[in-house]
Amino acid sequence: MTTPALDPDLLDKVINLAKRRGFIFPSAEIYGGFRSTYDYGPLGVNMLRNVKQAWWRSMVQLRDDIVGIDAAILGPPAVWAASGHLETFTDPLVDCRRCKERWREDKIDGVCPNCGGTEFTEARAFNLMFKTQAGPVEGEGATAYLRPETAQGMFTNFMNVLTTTRRKPPFGIAQVGKSFRNEITPQNFVFRTREFEQMEMEYFVPPADADGWYRYWISTRYEWYTNLGIPANRLRLHEHAKEDLSHYSRGTTDVEFLYPWGWDELEGIANRGDYDLTQHSKASGVRLEYFDQQAGERYTPYVIEPAAGATRAMMAFLLAAYEEDTVEGETRTVLRLDWRLSPYKVAVLPLSKKPELEGVSREVLSALQPWYMCDYDGTQSIGRRYRRQDESGTPYCVTVDFDSLEDRAVTVRDRDTTAQTRVPIEGLVEDLRRRMTVA
Ligand code: ATP
Repeated sequence: MTTPALDPDLLDKVINLAKRRGFIFPSAEIYGGFRSTYDYGPLGVNMLRNVKQAWWRSMVQLRDDIVGIDAAILGPPAVWAASGHLETFTDPLVDCRRCKERWREDKIDGVCPNCGGTEFTEARAFNLMFKTQAGPVEGEGATAYLRPETAQGMFTNFMNVLTTTRRKPPFGIAQVGKSFRNEITPQNFVFRTREFEQMEMEYFVPPADADGWYRYWISTRYEWYTNLGIPANRLRLHEHAKEDLSHYSRGTTDVEFLYPWGWDELEGIANRGDYDLTQHSKASGVRLEYFDQQAGERYTPYVIEPAAGATRAMMAFLLAAYEEDTVEGETRTVLRLDWRLSPYKVAVLPLSKKPELEGVSREVLSALQPWYMCDYDGTQSIGRRYRRQDESGTPYCVTVDFDSLEDRAVTVRDRDTTAQTRVPIEGLVEDLRRRMTVA
């Protein structure tokens, strides 16, 4: 497959669009922003929810072997000691000797991105966890950490889930939520931030079946992205060489996406063996094992983990959907998002501000709102309003005009083809349902 050439300005264009339309704003912007943190605006919050919902649907709703949890973000040091994070969740930190900027050594190829300097201090291990204090007392007893991944909540709740749901391997526990890493160099918009959202699933299997499930999850997760509209020529699988694996991993494959700066990670799928359950068993004194009654044997399941970023995936979906094309001789920007990810599914647009149109437009809006996230826009020319919706990724616009008062019908405009169809108001919900069906 040939690698497509991307518009060199794509990243800037998407960042601009995200700000202009209300997907993603720099956080605390009125105070000059805050260290690569971002806020999700009215469109962004809908889209991010849709990304997480699409993941939850495929991982939990459509399966009978995976259940969800929502664990705490704050955790005691014991969890992070057992998981290995206190000891090894570090990146190599170097200081440029010329400009004093700090960098993650493995990301700069020996040249300071700030000043071009090539001399650095010795690398030292910098722990990425945010440390804080729980309660009003200071000191070691009060130390807590913000989780740097959601996975540990699934391991510490392994027994709770096993006994309450009566599952047996193979089964999985899924979680979506915020994680925090004190990244040395957050970069590339929301690709790498210090506060981000993850979508992780720990799939517990009999050790003998681990490799098969590892392969299964690699292809299942790859297909999730293509199914939601990322073209196959902008995705690839990258299997880590044995010598590059983390200490706990028996195999890791990344789903990589072609970002404007090149191929980079979107999601990692790892065969973690029995590392996590064994570590927590030893440290807590609770045996995190499964007793197979039929075979009469007790064993520690292996874990296959597909670990994705929700905010990073949202960025990839935005980048992949961004297009500029020409409609009636005019250039337009259009986000060709899969409708499941679109912030609004439908925009109701009264053709003019005349009060006669308001009543029927509001009636159409109320009929659609129980089914679809809708926008309502009664300002500016209809052409400009279509452009706004195209840029927002809204798949369908419903225009109410003066004829609507007579014929009780509206015009449905398709974002991608710009084709317009007259549809009776009475059959509108059904018409849209036919257009937006789950693939
Ligand atoms: P890297 O090596 O790039 O720092 P990682 O391999 O440590 O990342 P994982 O621990 O495997 O990342 O995290 C799983 C997923 O969580 C990543 O594939 C990514 O989508 C997301 N993720 C991890 N760190 C960040 C971050 N700082 N900002 C946004 N998303 C992140």
